Amino acid sequence: MGTVAVHGLCKSFGKVQALDGVTLDVPDGSFFVVLGPSGAGKTTTLRAIAGLEKLDAGSVHLDGRDATGDAPAARDLAMVFQSYALYPRRTAYENIASPLRARRCSSSEIAAAVEQMSSLLHIERLLQRRPAQMSGGEMQRVALARALVRRPRAFLMDEPLTNLDLKLRVEMRTELTRIHRSLGATFVYVTNDQVEAMSMADRVAVLKEGKVQQVGTPTEVYERPANQWVAGFVGSPRISLLACRAEGDRLVGEGWTLPRPRWTTAEDGRPLLLGLRAEDLSVEQRGDASLPGELYGLEPLGDRTVVDVRVGTEILKVKARPTVTGTPGERLHVTVDLDRAHLFDAGTGLALS
Ligand code: ATP
Repeated sequence: MGTVAVHGLCKSFGKVQALDGVTLDVPDGSFFVVLGPSGAGKTTTLRAIAGLEKLDAGSVHLDGRDATGDAPAARDLAMVFQSYALYPRRTAYENIASPLRARRCSSSEIAAAVEQMSSLLHIERLLQRRPAQMSGGEMQRVALARALVRRPRAFLMDEPLTNLDLKLRVEMRTELTRIHRSLGATFVYVTNDQVEAMSMADRVAVLKEGKVQQVGTPTEVYERPANQWVAGFVGSPRISLLACRAEGDRLVGEGWTLPRPRWTTAEDGRPLLLGLRAEDLSVEQRGDASLPGELYGLEPLGDRTVVDVRVGTEILKVKARPTVTGTPGERLHVTVDLDRAHLFDAGTGLALS
C-alpha cells in the first residue's frame, strides 16, 4: 500500500502563509503531480508529508493511518531532490547500496537489488564510477536508483529534473513514467513545469498561494479549468481571455460579437471572460463564429506558427500551419470553435458551465 493524504494543512513563516488549508488525496500507485508557480507552497507540502515541517494545523495520513506526529524516519518515505546529494568518494554501486547497508541487508540481497535498479535505469555501465566521473543526467539516475532501491511506501520528488538540460529532461520524463509503471509505486512529484505535469501525471493538483485550485487528470485540468487562473497557468501558448458579456443569443465584446455558446447559463449583462485556446482558433479557415482582428505578429516554432492577432485591446494567440504568412497590420478574421471555448465570471474568475 502507498496512499498519502493530507487534510487542511496550514503553515506560516512569519507573515507568509505558505499553506492555507491544503487537502490532497494521493491514491496508491498513482503518479501525483503538485503543480504551481514559484512560492505556491509545493515544497512545503512535500516537506509536511515527509514530516520535516512543523504544521500550524492539518493532518497527514499514510495508508489510512494518522501519521501527523510520526518522526520522518518512521514514515517510510523517500525524498528525491533537485540536487543529487551523492557521496562523492563512493562509486555509483556503493551509493545505490548505501540505504540497504544501513538496513543491514546481506551482500547478496544488496547485489540483487542494485542489479535490478541499475538495469531499470540503464546505468549498469556506471556502477564502478564515482560522481565526478559522471554527467549530471547520469548522477541524477544514480540518485534516483538509490531512492528507488529502498522500496519505501511512497516517493516524494521535488523538481528532480530541474538541473538537467532540456534534452535530458525530456528523456527522463519518459524514463520516470516507465519506472513508475514498472514499480507500481506511489509518486508525489512537485514541479512548476506544466509540460512535466501534463506528460507524466495521472493526477495533478494545481496550487497557488498555498491553496489548491483544482485536482484532476491532466486532461480535466486542461479541458475544464476550474477558474481563470488555472486556465492561464496550464497550456502553452497561454489561453487568450477576452472581456465580454452575454446579451440574448450573443456574446458581446469590444468591437465584436459571437453567437452565445449553447452550453452557457450566464445571465445577460454579467461581466465575463471568454477563454480561447490557440488550437481552438484559426486564421486559415473562415467559419460562422469569427472575430475581426489585425495581424500583430508571427512566431514561427518549426512545426507550427503562433499568430498573434489583435482583437480590440487584447492579443489573441492562434495556432497555424508553419507555412502561414502575413504582414503586421493586415486585417483578418479569427474563427472560433465555440464548443471548446471557456467562460469565466470576470469578478470571481470561476468557470461557468
Ligand atoms: P519553488 O517552486 O520556488 O520551490 P514552492 O512552491 O515550492 O516554490 P515553497 O518553497 O513551499 O514554494 O514556499 C512557499 C512560501 O513559503 C514562499 O513564499 C517561501 O518564500 C516561503 N517559505 C518557505 N520556506 C520558508 C522558510 N523556511 N522560512 C521562511 N519562508 C519560507
